[in-house]
Order: sequence, then C-alpha cells, then structure tokens
Amino acid sequence: MEAIVKPSGASARVAIIGGSGLYDPGIVEDPVEVKVATPYGNPSDSIIVGRVSGVPVAFLPRHGRGHKIPPHMINYRANIYALKALGARWVVSVSAVGSLRWDYKPGDFVVPDQFIDMTKRRDYTFYDGPVTVHVSMADPFCEDLRRRLVEATKSLGYTVHDRGTYLCIEGPRFSTRAESRLWRDVFKADIIGMTLVPEVNLACEAQMCYATLAMVTDYDVWAEKPVTAEEVERVMTENVRRAREVLYKLIPSLPEEPSHEACSCCRALEYGAI
Ligand SMILES: [Zn+2]
Repeated sequence: MEAIVKPSGASARVAIIGGSGLYDPGIVEDPVEVKVATPYGNPSDSIIVGRVSGVPVAFLPRHGRGHKIPPHMINYRANIYALKALGARWVVSVSAVGSLRWDYKPGDFVVPDQFIDMTKRRDYTFYDGPVTVHVSMADPFCEDLRRRLVEATKSLGYTVHDRGTYLCIEGPRFSTRAESRLWRDVFKADIIGMTLVPEVNLACEAQMCYATLAMVTDYDVWAEKPVTAEEVERVMTENVRRAREVLYKLIPSLPEEPSHEACSCCRALEYGAI
C-alpha cells in the first residue's frame, strides 16, 4: 500500500460507506465536504466529514452522488485509502442485497460473517508487488464491529440475522435463474449483492475494522416471485430510515480505538506480509 498521506484539516474515527439509497450528506452534523486525492485515483465522490453524537465521522457514497458509478466501476482502492487517510479505524458499510432464502425477508437486516467472491475484474489488493501480501480471509469481517452492529439493530426492535454468507457478483446485470439457484442450492449463500468485494478485503489490508449492514430489498430470481420496482423502492426507503437509526445507535458506542482483545483487524498485516 502506498504511504498514507493525511489530508490536512479533516479527520474521522468512523467511516460510513453508503450504498444504494443512502446518499444523504445530512447523515452527519456540521458536514464539511473534503476532496481526498489518492495514489489510486479518485474516490467515488467527495467525502463528507462531520459528527454523529460528537464522534467524528466520514461519509462516502459508494456509487457517488446521483448513483453515477456502477458496482464494477467503483474505485474501491481509492475509497478505502481515502477513509484510512482521514484516520478512520471503523468502517461500517451499508448495502442493499437480494435474499437467497425465505426466512431472510425483504425489510430484514443481515450482518454477514462470510462471503463468496464471484466478481471478475476488479483491483483486489493494494499490494501489486514488489511487496506481496496474503491476508487471511477466514473470518473476513471484524467480529467486534459485527457484534456491535447486531446489538444496535436488535435494540431498536428491527429484525436482524447475525450471520450470513454474502455472494458477490460482478454485475451490473442481475443473475440468471440458473445462477441464482446455483448460489442458493449449491453454494449455500444467503444474500447476494455486487459491492462487498473487494471493499472488505482492502479494508483488511488497510488494517481497519470493517462490517456490513445489509438490507434485504427482495428475493432474488430463484424465488420465481416477481417484484416490482415500486416494491423494492418502498422497502428500500423504509430500510434506509432504519439504517440511519442503527448507525446513530452504533456510532457513539464505538471505542476510540479498536481493542486488541476484541479483534485482530489492526494486526492483519503482521500475519500476511511477506
Ligand atoms: Zn476489528
């Protein structure tokens, strides 16, 4: 990874990467727009730095404002680098997903603990040589942050599944019926989306604590249950409102520094660098 250059005048402890539906810079108080240049190019958009209950927070809309960048064109390396440069130790990503099982219903939240990568053409690492790194992905998410996310969601009375395998496809197209059945019946994945990889493994290389709050918007095509755009839109709007509440609950509860006892994210490279 290129040496981190901190942008002057702005910093954040927690980063929120907003997915489909979550763009509102008003999510933080006293928002200031910060442009961060990185050795990997430009992030998806300016980063909004502000506060949530006094905690310095950076907000980055993953697809850019106005949803201009499709999943396969997102500069994931620049996004993670920029958030790291702002000082973020915790990264909470919010994404809309399809469900591959009946009991993960539209409107439910899932905090996945595993993923399967079916993407095809992305930049998966900060280490293209001469330094080579093989980080462990056995448990790809920060266990401490996952637990806190689940607790925050539960405490608000929302349905949350505390485990799940996120199948990440390349997109931008959706799956065929045959693919969807494969992901569900053979791969045994639980939810499907297009943006988790390589965001999650780059955060790991950057030694940040990363977890995802996934919002189920619909059943994927295996269910043979056609959904209308209006239905998806309705669920999405409601979920985004709830996701904001979860973030507001979670953020003040996060310690200033991740604890070495609770997780090993900040030491990921000690085991992975060659
Ligand atoms: Zn961690």
